[in-house]
Amino acid sequence: MVHSNSGYGNGKTSNTGVVIAMEKHADTDRSLVDIYCSTHPISQQLYAQACRVFPSGVTHDSRFLSPFPIYVERASGSKKWDVDGNEYIDYWVGHGSLLLGHGRPEVMEAVKAQLSRGTHYGACHRLEIEWGELVKKLVPSAEKVKFVSSGTEATLMALRLARAFTGKDKIVKFEGHFHGWHDAAIPGVKPPFDVPPSPGIPRGFLDNTLLCPPNDSESLRKIMDQDDDIAAVIIEPTGASFVAIPTRDGFLQELRDLTRQNGVLLIFDEVITGFRVSPGGAQEFYGVMPDLTALAKILAGGLPGGAVAGRADIMEYLEFKDDSEWNRYRKIYHPGTFNANPLSASAGIAALKLVSSGEDIKKANAVAQSLRERLNEVIDKHGINWCVYGQFSGFRILKEHECNKRVNCDFQACDYDYTRLKTGGDPELGRMLRIGMLLNGVDMSLSLTLTSSAHSMEDVDKTVAAFDSTLAQMKKEKVIK
Ligand code: PMP
Repeated sequence: MVHSNSGYGNGKTSNTGVVIAMEKHADTDRSLVDIYCSTHPISQQLYAQACRVFPSGVTHDSRFLSPFPIYVERASGSKKWDVDGNEYIDYWVGHGSLLLGHGRPEVMEAVKAQLSRGTHYGACHRLEIEWGELVKKLVPSAEKVKFVSSGTEATLMALRLARAFTGKDKIVKFEGHFHGWHDAAIPGVKPPFDVPPSPGIPRGFLDNTLLCPPNDSESLRKIMDQDDDIAAVIIEPTGASFVAIPTRDGFLQELRDLTRQNGVLLIFDEVITGFRVSPGGAQEFYGVMPDLTALAKILAGGLPGGAVAGRADIMEYLEFKDDSEWNRYRKIYHPGTFNANPLSASAGIAALKLVSSGEDIKKANAVAQSLRERLNEVIDKHGINWCVYGQFSGFRILKEHECNKRVNCDFQACDYDYTRLKTGGDPELGRMLRIGMLLNGVDMSLSLTLTSSAHSMEDVDKTVAAFDSTLAQMKKEKVIK
């Protein structure tokens, strides 16, 4: 479909009618930020309006971009288009929820069909059963399932279940790992790990969330030896922020053994890895079974939704029993207006059915693998000390690294300082890279860059060219040497 330029975009209109902003400005001496402002006037206007409504004008911290973010009005497959008529290859993929790409017809049809039957019944419905059965079928450790509305709610419930089941208060989490933004999950999310990443967290939560360096079984053993009040260890199984600090080979099994020996529950946060790493998530891929699993994102096919799945004897704490003592004092209270919402259920069922073949996962992985290899070739060409790494359908651009292993790196087991891996390098370089890539028709989050099965090798070619042009421009502006 040809998208109109609305008369505002100052970039060149390509033969498909869309605008790649940088094309017209390749030969000018203007800065990236300057070109960005002149090619995104409507986004700039909307941002000024948004700042009067939202703190800093944004509704999610990672969408913040100075001087202003793009405003998107349409998306399809691997692409999205902004209000100024600019086209982008999208590597945000709905914060990871769109493994199947934007607007996959089977998912859209299911949602449309459900829409005509109502958006919320305030009652039980058939679709929630089918959705839950699919989760049980795909996720190996899922004996019982309970739906919530987001990944944050899923880890919140998993931690509460662990505390209720064990009667213990403390949680161990790994530095850099992200489990949503509720009070217990926030400590240790970003460096410096010993400083709370956000104000407003009561001291009790900080004291009850113990931090362990990632991939460090010895430290974990010590923590568990010294404290007998630990309910659970929670982990992003492939590593912090999916691929940022990769989990080393064998660690998940060591973790499983250690937690079992100490009577501590193991929670896999599969909010990203679930249905992305394999149809049954990281637990299926690595053959290591957690006691509880937090799910969201792909689970609900691009609509809001989350779930906890796991051992029946732990999930029992959500059950009503013929026992008023139990119901009053031991059962976990669990309301939630949008739990198993019918629209989310319809999208989720369609998505999980498609994901179950594994074909979409393979496609997304192949594109990411190609991007990792080819973006590193561009880095070599420019002779800069950057690195692209990652695994599965994720890739990250590490700016200014000191290890010299990249040339022979297998992109699987980077042993570079994990604090630097989490931050990804200088934020100002990151900002310029994002703006440069946007001007060259690519929208990528610097914290979580993901592919979908809708991405093609043509998208890879365009992304490689965009990266090349952006690095050249950054050199011209002396942002990098
Ligand atoms: N856990 C992980 C591993 C995540 O990546 C995220 C979100 N990116 C969450 C939990 C929180 O999910 P949500 O944004 O749906 O609350």
